[in-house]
Amino acid sequence: MIIYTAKNMNANMVSSEKMEYPIVAIRDGIVFPATENVLVFGRNKSVEAMKSAMIEDKKVVLVMQKKLDMDSPEADDIYHVGVLATIDKIATGEKGQINALVKGLKKVKITQFTQKTPFFIGKVEEIHDVVTQDNEIVAIVKYISGQIKKAINLGKTIDFVFLMNILNINSTDNFSNQVAMVLDLKTSERQGLLEETDLKKRLAKEVEYINREIKVLELEQNISSKTQRKFEKNMRETFLREKMRTIEEELGDKSDNKEVNEYKKKIKLANMPKEVEEKAVKELKRLLQMSQFNPESSYVRTYLDWLVELPWSKESRESIDLKGASKILDEDHFGLQKVKERILEFLAVMKLKNMQKVNDQKSAHQPSILCFVGPPGVGKTSLGRSIARSLGRKFIKVSLGGIRDEAEIRGHRRTYVGALPGRMIQGIKQSGTNNPVFMLDEIDKVGRDYRGDPSSALLEALDPEQNHAFSDHYLEVPFDLSGVFFITTANILDTIPDALLDRLEVIHFAGYTEDEKFNIAKNYLIPKQKSAHHIEAEKVRFTDESLRTIIRRFTREAGVRELERQIATVFRKVAREIVEKKSNGALKSIVKSDVQKYLGPYKYSAQMIEEHNTIGITTGLAWTHAGGDILFIEVATMPGKGNLTLTGNLGDVMKESCQAALSYIRARWDMFKMEKDFFANSDIHVHVPEGAVPKDGPSAGTAIVTSMVSALTKIPVKRDVAMTGEITLRGRVTEIGGLKEKVIAAHRAGIKTVIIPRDNKKDLVDIPKKVQEDLKFIFADHIDEVLREALVFPNGKKEFVARPQLMIEKEPEKEKKVN
Ligand code: ADP
Repeated sequence: MIIYTAKNMNANMVSSEKMEYPIVAIRDGIVFPATENVLVFGRNKSVEAMKSAMIEDKKVVLVMQKKLDMDSPEADDIYHVGVLATIDKIATGEKGQINALVKGLKKVKITQFTQKTPFFIGKVEEIHDVVTQDNEIVAIVKYISGQIKKAINLGKTIDFVFLMNILNINSTDNFSNQVAMVLDLKTSERQGLLEETDLKKRLAKEVEYINREIKVLELEQNISSKTQRKFEKNMRETFLREKMRTIEEELGDKSDNKEVNEYKKKIKLANMPKEVEEKAVKELKRLLQMSQFNPESSYVRTYLDWLVELPWSKESRESIDLKGASKILDEDHFGLQKVKERILEFLAVMKLKNMQKVNDQKSAHQPSILCFVGPPGVGKTSLGRSIARSLGRKFIKVSLGGIRDEAEIRGHRRTYVGALPGRMIQGIKQSGTNNPVFMLDEIDKVGRDYRGDPSSALLEALDPEQNHAFSDHYLEVPFDLSGVFFITTANILDTIPDALLDRLEVIHFAGYTEDEKFNIAKNYLIPKQKSAHHIEAEKVRFTDESLRTIIRRFTREAGVRELERQIATVFRKVAREIVEKKSNGALKSIVKSDVQKYLGPYKYSAQMIEEHNTIGITTGLAWTHAGGDILFIEVATMPGKGNLTLTGNLGDVMKESCQAALSYIRARWDMFKMEKDFFANSDIHVHVPEGAVPKDGPSAGTAIVTSMVSALTKIPVKRDVAMTGEITLRGRVTEIGGLKEKVIAAHRAGIKTVIIPRDNKKDLVDIPKKVQEDLKFIFADHIDEVLREALVFPNGKKEFVARPQLMIEKEPEKEKKVN
C-alpha cells in the first residue's frame, strides 16, 4: 500500500485563477464544504482522476451521480453542482481502489467539460452562499442540535467526529454543512441541500429532515419494544410451562396424557367408521407432538371435538307404524287431509323399501325428499315435527334463506381461521343422531354468487346416490347422510333450481279458510297457547264471536301464524290480570269487546270489497308468496290524445296484459257501442292500488278488460264479483294458476261470485267444501261472458247501448264514489 501525503495541508489555499479540475462522480456521501470524510474510489475512471489530481494540486471536483446503480455515468448522468475538495491522504487498496481522506473546500458549478476520457476534466465556477445572521437562525441551529441529540438517544448512529464538529461549530454556515453530512437522506435530497444557497432555507430543510428521521426512529423503537415485550412474555410462559411440566412429572400427574387418554376414550365411544377413526388418531398424535402453546393445538382440539361428538353410529330406532303416524298427524293438525294422506303414502313406501332391502345395508333407507310448498304459517314446519314424532326420530330445522356461499352448506376448509363445518353437519351434531328428520327451510331462497353455488352442495347432500359419503370441507372425512329424512320447505317453486326440484316430491299447502282457521284456533292454537302461558284450562275461554273477530279484524293472512300471535297476546294480558287481581278462579269468557281491550283497535276493516257498484273498478284475484289476495284494477278515462298510462308497480307481463286489453276493446269498438276513434281523443289510466307492492302475471287479463270497458261505457261493475283469467287478443279466456289460493282469498274478502276460466273448472276439487258452498262460480270461455256477468247493465238486458259524447260526459251523482 502506498501512502501519498498531501504536501499542502491548508485547505483554504485554493488558487483562484485555476478553475479547471478533474471531476469524480461519486454515488453518495459527498463532502460538503468545510467537512471531511474518507471516501473509497473503486471505478477506473475515478482512480485515474484521483491519481492525476495527486500529481497536480491534489484538488478534485466531487459530484454525485443521479442514479446510484449506474456504473459509468456520462456528463448528463451527474449533477453539475458539486464540491471542490482537496485530497488530504490517500491509500491504494489491494484491488486497486483508492481510499482517500477528502476535505470540502467550496461549492462549485461545472460550466464546461474539457475532457471526457479517460476521466472528466471540467471548468468550474464557485457558488456563493447567501449568509445572514439573525436570531431566528440562532434558534434554528439550537433546535437542530437538540433534535440531533434526541435522534442519537433514539438510536441514530453518528460518527463521533461529526458529532463533535456539529456541537462545537460557531459558524452557522459550517454547521448546516456538517448537519447535511449526518442526515439520512436520498441522493436528490442531499443534492438539494447542496444546491440551496440561502442558508436559512437550507436550515429549514434540515429541520424537516431531522424531524422525519426522529419520527421513523420513534416508530422503530415502538415496534421493536413491542416485539421485545411479546418475546419476553412468550419466553416467560414457555419457561413457566416447562417448569410446570417438570413439577407435574415429579408429582406423577401428567395432565397432557390425561387429555390424550380422554380423547382416546371418546374416539372409542364414538364408534366411528374405520377411516374416520384413523383420521382422529392421526390428529391426536399431531396434538401430542405439538407444544401445548402452539396456537394450532387449539384448532386441533376443536377438530377432534367435532369428530368425537358427531353421531357416527347413533341413530333413533325407527318404527314405521302407519296407524300410529296417522293418529299423531291428526293429533297435531286440523284438516290438511290431502297433505296427510300424501305423507302416509310416502311413509308406506318407505316402510316397504326398508323391508325389501333390509339386507342391503346401503340402500336400506333411501327416502326421496319431500318439499312442502305454501305460504307462511300453514303448518309446514309443525307437520315436519309431527312426522319426526310419528317416526320416533329427532327433528332438526335449518334455515337456508339468504345463503349464498357454498361454505355455509359444506363448511370452510380447516386452513381458514375460525373454520367450522357447514349447516348440514352442524344440524346433524345438534340432533345427536344420524337419522333425524331434517327440515331445510326456505330452499327457494338459496342464492348463488362468486363464492360458489350452494345449491350444488345441497344437491350432493340430498341425493341418495351420493349422500352416503357427504363431504364437508371442514371434516375432511365423509359423513353418511343416507339415513336422514330430508324435508324441504318453500314459499314458491319458481326459484328452486331445476336440478334440485327434480329430486323433490312436492306437496302443496294452500291457505286456510276462515272456518278452518276458526277450528285450528279453537282446537289447537288456543290449548297450545294456554299451556304455554300456564293458564289453567278452566279459567279462560274465547267465545266463538270473539275468536271470529280476531280472525277477521286482526289478521289477514293465508296461514295462522299471526292468529297464533294475537291469541298469545290475549293470554299474556289475561295472565297478568290473573296475577294482579289474584283472580278467584272463576271462569272468564273473552267476549268480543274484550278483544279490542286486549289487542287495541281493529287492524283491518270488515269490508274488504267496495261499498257500491262502481265504474272502472274490478276486483281481481292475485296469488302471492303469502297465499292469495284480492286486488282492485282501477281504470279512469279522460280527454287526451290516446295515451295509455299504467301505474301501481306493474311488471312487464301485466303491462302487456293492459295493452292487449286495450287492443281488444279498440278492435271491438262497435260491439261496445263506442265511437270508432274513441281512443284518439281520450287517455286511459290503469292503476292497481298498493303501489309499493310489485304485481305481475297475466291472470288479471279479464279484470283489466272489465274495468276498461266499464270506464269507457260508464257501466258500473258488480262489487261482489271477483275474477281471474288470462285473455288472448281475440278475447278468449285461458287457464291460470293458483286457483285454490285465489278462491280462498275471494271467500275471505266476502266476494259472492267468482268468474274463472272454464279450463280451471277441474281445479275446483281442491277447494274446501264450505268455500264451494258459499261462492257462486261462473266458468267463462270468452271475455264477453265475463262482461255479461260482471257489469250492471242499465237496461237490464245485458247489452251495450250507444252513449254519445262518452268521454266528456259528467258522471252521475251516485257513481262519483269512484276513488
Ligand atoms: P310454516 O312452517 O308453514 O310457516 P308453521 O308450521 O310454523 O308454519 O305454523 C305456524 C303455527 O300454526 C304453528 O304453531 C302450527 O302448529 C300452527 N298450525 C298451522 N296449521 C295448523 C293446522 N292445520 N292445525 C293445527 N295447527 C296448525
